Amino acid sequence: GSSLAVFTSGGDAQGMNAALRAIVRMGIYLGCKVYLIYEGYQGMVDGGKNIQLANWYSVSGIIGAGGTIIGSARCMDFKERPGRLKAAKNLVKFGINNLVCIGGDGSLTGANLFKEEWSSLLQELLETDQITAEEREKYSFLNIVGLVGSIDNDFCGTDMTIGADSALHRIIEAVDAIVTTAFSHQRCFVMEVMGRHCGYLALAAGLASDADWIMIPENPPEKGWEDKLCKRLAVQRESGHRLNIVLIAEGAIDRDGNPIKSDYVKDIIKNRLKIDTRVTVLGHVQRGGSASAFDRVLATRMGAEAVLALLNATPDSEPVVVSLNGNVTCHVPLMESVEKTKAVAKAMADKDFQRAVELRGSS
Ligand code: ADP
Repeated sequence: GSSLAVFTSGGDAQGMNAALRAIVRMGIYLGCKVYLIYEGYQGMVDGGKNIQLANWYSVSGIIGAGGTIIGSARCMDFKERPGRLKAAKNLVKFGINNLVCIGGDGSLTGANLFKEEWSSLLQELLETDQITAEEREKYSFLNIVGLVGSIDNDFCGTDMTIGADSALHRIIEAVDAIVTTAFSHQRCFVMEVMGRHCGYLALAAGLASDADWIMIPENPPEKGWEDKLCKRLAVQRESGHRLNIVLIAEGAIDRDGNPIKSDYVKDIIKNRLKIDTRVTVLGHVQRGGSASAFDRVLATRMGAEAVLALLNATPDSEPVVVSLNGNVTCHVPLMESVEKTKAVAKAMADKDFQRAVELRGSS
């Protein structure tokens, strides 16, 4: 059978463990040797006990656990060729030439580069007597498949990323909790949620909760939005509401591209409406806690699909990302999706919001 290895890289997300479990078990079920690479690319570069053969029970009891049991890391070494050379040597020595990368666009870009360089890395290892001619022959191709783990749901090419639904649950729980205390004291809460360039979490949380106002990067408010906001909240209060919730995505910006800070919004409301207003920044709570049922199922389906994609890969097949399209798991070309994702970030930075939304919507 083949050998494959799985690693988690970049920011963690709930559901990564469920994906890991599915990959290990599907791999074993299909007769593969499955290795776990600890601490992301750093473990691949350092080798040794960072690379371990998994068995069926290595991934018992983790399906619901947040984070990633094999660790994740940012790795500078892998960004340079000498680091990738070491990583290639370690993989060859373990007999691994199939990789599943669970990470964000950075991690997937690294994986793609590694695949492109693979034959020249092996050539260099051969010339420097670090591997044998037989090894080079046997492992002459590297197959990679990506799974997108990100609470932000910010990746073009999949309707949902692994972790976004769980993060949404954390946010909803927090909003529900804040609502009860806000009610008691007739307060307004400005709640800041994660998402970087992507307003998905703020928007979906707003739809699923008692929020009165939502601010997302994709739809920067027009000049004078402060008046509209205050008017809206005042109307709510006059009609008998005892509280207000304003949800702000961490990446929220105005039409000039300047960040809209939670404290600024709080001060506006406090000063103009004389409402007791507080800021709650949810922060890393959103990345933690158990994975939702949706994320567990999504990650399980994607993990199983990733193993099938690896085993069906041919030397000249393009690397893919496993994605969700509607309710169907499928594959999309890895680099095309990464490039689209980066184009969205660029469009946002260029304040071309229309283009950003179009790019996202078309994938
Ligand atoms: P994410 O995968 O969540 O986007 P990062 O952008 O931090 O997170 O990437 C995670 C790791 O992937 C980096 O620390 C680095 O080791 C590797 N990586 C990212 N971009 C590249 C690249 N262009 N070339 C090689 N490795 C990369």
